[in-house]
Amino acid sequence: MSDENQGGWERVRSRLRAEVGDDVYSSWFARMDLEAIEEGAVRLSVPTRFLKSWIQNHYAERVLACWQAEDDTIGRIELTVRSAVLKNAVVAKPKLEVPAGGDIGNRFGNSMAGRPMSAGDPGVHEALGGSPLDARLTFDSFVVGRSNTLAHAAAKQVAAARRTDPVMFNPLYIHAGVGLGKTHLLQAITWAGNAAGERKVLYLTAEKFMYGFVSALRTQTALAFKEALRGIGVLVIDDLQFLQGKSTQAEFCHTLNALIDAGRQVIIASDRPPSDLESLDDRVRSRLAGGLVVEMGSLGEELRLEILKARVQAARAYHPTFDVPLPVLAYIAKTVTHNGRDLEGALNRLLAHNKLTGHAVTLEMAEREVRDLIRPQEPKRVKIEDIQRIVARQYNVSRSDLLSSRRTANVVRPRQVAMYLAKTLTLRSLPEIGRRFGGRDHTTVLHAVRKIEGLVGADMALAEEIEILKRQLQE
Ligand code: ADP
Ligand code: MG
Repeated sequence: MSDENQGGWERVRSRLRAEVGDDVYSSWFARMDLEAIEEGAVRLSVPTRFLKSWIQNHYAERVLACWQAEDDTIGRIELTVRSAVLKNAVVAKPKLEVPAGGDIGNRFGNSMAGRPMSAGDPGVHEALGGSPLDARLTFDSFVVGRSNTLAHAAAKQVAAARRTDPVMFNPLYIHAGVGLGKTHLLQAITWAGNAAGERKVLYLTAEKFMYGFVSALRTQTALAFKEALRGIGVLVIDDLQFLQGKSTQAEFCHTLNALIDAGRQVIIASDRPPSDLESLDDRVRSRLAGGLVVEMGSLGEELRLEILKARVQAARAYHPTFDVPLPVLAYIAKTVTHNGRDLEGALNRLLAHNKLTGHAVTLEMAEREVRDLIRPQEPKRVKIEDIQRIVARQYNVSRSDLLSSRRTANVVRPRQVAMYLAKTLTLRSLPEIGRRFGGRDHTTVLHAVRKIEGLVGADMALAEEIEILKRQLQE
């Protein structure tokens, strides 16, 4: 090849590198060679069929344009796969061997630093080491409710599938807001799948995926990395929305295609549906949407309560004296946000408080401890003092009248109304309300509540008065 051609090729390469960026350039073009220029056609070669088709599908026009900027007589580009034999500088790709026990996943490792890797090198496996798993996030501890039935069933199915089973839905794509159990479900699949020993399941956060890829690039073993990924039976990627950078996304796209085409299961979680992953290109989005896309809704109150109960149970394994009365759990389930993380946070505080002070967990303690986790959009929490103040004003009596033992009609009815409101607008128990109304017995409170409940059905005026009081209290 002439020096002139070679010089032109250097300039084309620099132009290409400047246009696509260093990452993309080194992933796809670093090993592209100029073979010949003949009759308006440039013949370029790359070492693998995969690179050839990738460049053809994604960068053919770019490459042509870069050549035309150099030489406007060029009309087309031909890509070929050069054989390892002809170019003895290119070493045949070693076949990846997954060590016995398939130890690719779930280890942190950066022992690859500063060391070139080959695909058969354990360093590759370490570099690919999955993100750490939390031993508590299993199917056993996952509580199924209305909002996650389908996702759970799909996850179970995927985890139980055997190597020889046809792949039912690929990828399985689960999306939900923060704290709704995506990571829990994905890790449960990973635990269960690896325990079954049928297929190697690798769990990676999108960050870990990027980190692995970027480091692999740095040591120029992108292909080894790809090979290693392909040795995996089930790939689980969490928080896909964090996948960033064009070359990472290209790599992700390729990995996805390679795995799915090879009949391997891919499972993905994200905080949004595939169509909303704006940074990914259409083809990837449609591939993601082409399997089963399941949304998990927010955790309903019932589910929250069940999760809390299960959590307390689990905590008792380590803290046998820890006990949270049901009303406290019900209170947390009712008031704390829909987010599973805050539920956990709330219980952790109760546990910490209980451990540090030795005080039993009570509703009052819970209210104090979890105040800042309470849903902001929740209607204002009503205090008993406020009820007493507003009811007293409405009926033109004093607050101490309400608390006194006087039994005249003009005080008895307002007092009953106030107790009724305390019961319906707060989570206080009957004994607690009795105590706050001048030390009355809980049966007195119950009687008042029943009395008013009975009256509002028939007495429209009273019903309306109570509505007005409620509105004032909740403003
Ligand atoms: P995401 O990944 O969707 O943000 P996580 O899976 O990290 O949410 O869940 C947050 C917390 O809520 C975790 O502690 C998790 O165990 C708990 N959680 C969420 N959903 C459930 C569920 N259905 N059963 C049991 N725990 C759950
Ligand atoms: Mg998560």
